[in-house]
Amino acid sequence: MNRVDYLRISLIDRCNFRCRYCIPEGAEIDYILKQNLLTDNELLTLLKDVFIPVGFTRFRLTGGEPLLRPNVINLIEAIASFPETKDLSVTTNGFLLSKMAKDLYKAGLRRINISLDSLNSDTFNLIIGNKNRNRWQSVWNGIQVAYEVGFDPLKINVVIIPGVNDHEVLDLAALTINRNWHIRFIEFMPIGNEKLFNNKGWISSEELRQRIRKKWGLTESFVRGNGPADIFQIPGAKGTLGFISQMSECFCDRCNRMRLSADGWLRPCLLNEMGQIDLKNSLRNGVSVKEIQQQVKNLLGLKPEINFKQRESSTTGIYSRTMSQIGG
Ligand code: SAM
Ligand code: SF4
Repeated sequence: MNRVDYLRISLIDRCNFRCRYCIPEGAEIDYILKQNLLTDNELLTLLKDVFIPVGFTRFRLTGGEPLLRPNVINLIEAIASFPETKDLSVTTNGFLLSKMAKDLYKAGLRRINISLDSLNSDTFNLIIGNKNRNRWQSVWNGIQVAYEVGFDPLKINVVIIPGVNDHEVLDLAALTINRNWHIRFIEFMPIGNEKLFNNKGWISSEELRQRIRKKWGLTESFVRGNGPADIFQIPGAKGTLGFISQMSECFCDRCNRMRLSADGWLRPCLLNEMGQIDLKNSLRNGVSVKEIQQQVKNLLGLKPEINFKQRESSTTGIYSRTMSQIGG
C-alpha cells in the first residue's frame, strides 16, 4: 500500500465548459450553493490543521474549473507558502490562462496541467459542447503564455474518444518532440455518460502506444511520475508521453491520493463513494481539529478496502455525481 500524501482539492464545481464526457448532455446539475462551499478560511484550516499534520504534503487544485474560484490567486499563495507543501499544482481547462498565468506563477504555482483534447477547433467544440470557435484559440494561447511564463512541468491532458479525436494521437504526441511539454493520454471513463459519441467505448493506452511506436519508436522513461501515469518518450524528444489507463489497468494498488470536494466531502476513491466524510459540517459544528484529524486517519486506514476495484459494491452507486462535481 502506498503512502497517501496527495490531496486533490476541488475548488468549485462550476465550469465555463460543458465537456460531454464530463457533464452528460442535458444533465441538470445541482450546483453547490455558495453557503455550502468550503470558505477560503475553512479550506486553509483543513489543510494547515488537519491534512498537513496527518501527512499530506502534495496538493492539486481542480474542479469544475478551478480558475473560476473567486480569490484563487490568494488561495494558491497561501497554500504555496505552507512550509510543508512539497508540491502544488492546478488542473485547468486553460480558457482563462492567458490572463491569469503570470499571477498564478507569481503566487508560487509552478506546475500546471491543461486539458486540450484536440488540435482542431471543430473537434474541440464538438467535445466541449460549444460552438464558439474562439475557445480553442483561447486555450491554445493560454498554453503558450503558461509555457513562456515558465511553468515546468507543463502537462497537457488529452482524453481519447474513439472516432472523435483518436486520429490526432500522432499529431498530439509530436508536440513533445521540440517542446518540453508532457502530453498525457487519458482513457475515457464512462462516468454518467456511457452512451457518449455513439457508444464507441474507449481505446486502450497500449493501442495508442503501438501507433506511436510504429511511427517513431517509444522508450520507457526512467523518470517515474508521482501519479498513475506510465511515462514514455519518443526517442530524442524534449518532452514525455504519459498514459493514464484506468480502464485497461487497475492502479488501485499504487493509489496515493484522496479527494476533497468543493463542499467539503473527503472521498477516498474517485469511483467509489463508500466511506466519504463531511469535513465542512464537522468544522461548522465545532468538532475539534484533533477529532477531524482522527476521522481522516480512520478513513486512511480504510482506504485499501475502498477502491475502484470494488466499485460495484458501493452502496450509493458510483455515478451519482459527474466528474466536474467530484473534482476529477
Ligand atoms: N476543468 C478542469 C479541466 O478540464 O482540466 C479540471 C477538472 S476536469 C474534471 C479534470 C480532468 O478530468 C480533465 O483532464 C478532464 O479531461 C478529465 N475528465 C473529465 N471527465 C472524464 C472522463 N469521463 N473520462 C476521463 N477523463 C475525464
Ligand atoms: Fe470540461 Fe473540466 Fe469543465 Fe469537466 S470540469 S466540463 S472536463 S472543463
